[in-house]
Amino acid sequence: MRANYHTHCDFCDGKAPAAEMARAAKKAGIEILGFSSHAPIVQPMPWAIKPERLGEYAAEIRRLKKAWASDGEEGRIHGPMEVLLGLEIDWFPGEREPGDGAFRALGLDFSIGSVHYVAPRACPPFAVDEDGASFESHLAASGATARELYRDYYRRLAALIGSGGFDILGHFDLVQKNNMDGHLFEEDEDYLAAAFEAVHCLEGKDLVVEINLGGMTRHAAPRPYPSLAILRELKAVGAPICFSADAHSPENFGPSFDAAEKAARELALEAGYREMRILRAGEWKDSGIM
Ligand SMILES: [Zn+2]
Ligand SMILES: [Zn+2]
Repeated sequence: MRANYHTHCDFCDGKAPAAEMARAAKKAGIEILGFSSHAPIVQPMPWAIKPERLGEYAAEIRRLKKAWASDGEEGRIHGPMEVLLGLEIDWFPGEREPGDGAFRALGLDFSIGSVHYVAPRACPPFAVDEDGASFESHLAASGATARELYRDYYRRLAALIGSGGFDILGHFDLVQKNNMDGHLFEEDEDYLAAAFEAVHCLEGKDLVVEINLGGMTRHAAPRPYPSLAILRELKAVGAPICFSADAHSPENFGPSFDAAEKAARELALEAGYREMRILRAGEWKDSGIM
């Protein structure tokens, strides 16, 4: 069974209309497709939905939900596929928090809570996943060490988990995106201690942690997020997982998606997982990974 709850489209920083993303997902054999455009934060951001377009976004995803619910045809590809309305909501304490209920009126099927922005040493916030050169210059300007960077990232992730108000925790170790070659820091004892502090906040919570394939399909990363060491600790605290494309264009559902998903399933099995959590017909349930 293939389910994916992490899909962007041209309402935010995705490259294609939602209808096109849905067709590509169906072609890739996805049975449950969740849309998760970036929710607006307080100041306007080019990567987020414009607040005045939220209603239009919800209406378009609901239109697709209806179009794909039957065995009919949408763009000459046969259904059905369950389409769900969601948002990826950022963690900006005091300004935007998944638990602040700002999007309740949209009647979302689910939401993803994500940390993208850090501010080590009280510098202006910058995104840990922006492209290499820009990330490096922001990190240098902050004056923070790599250790301060990941500690700040995981402190924020722990605070996001503690505050709740969402269903799926986005890309757990995204702070590794610009460090896949290890040039900034090693995944050593200190790094894992910081990451595990966030992992332990998940204990007893019913949050689903995604294994995110976007690094592999979009940035040629050698592995999905999070790493095997972190996945093992997640398994130890009983955190359920799901697999996420984090697709921004139809190509992210192409051959690279197959390869990345295979790698993610193998990683999950190696960490001891046998089940993934899926949202189907309004209910979260466990489903076998293989
Ligand atoms: Zn994200
Ligand atoms: Zn995303």
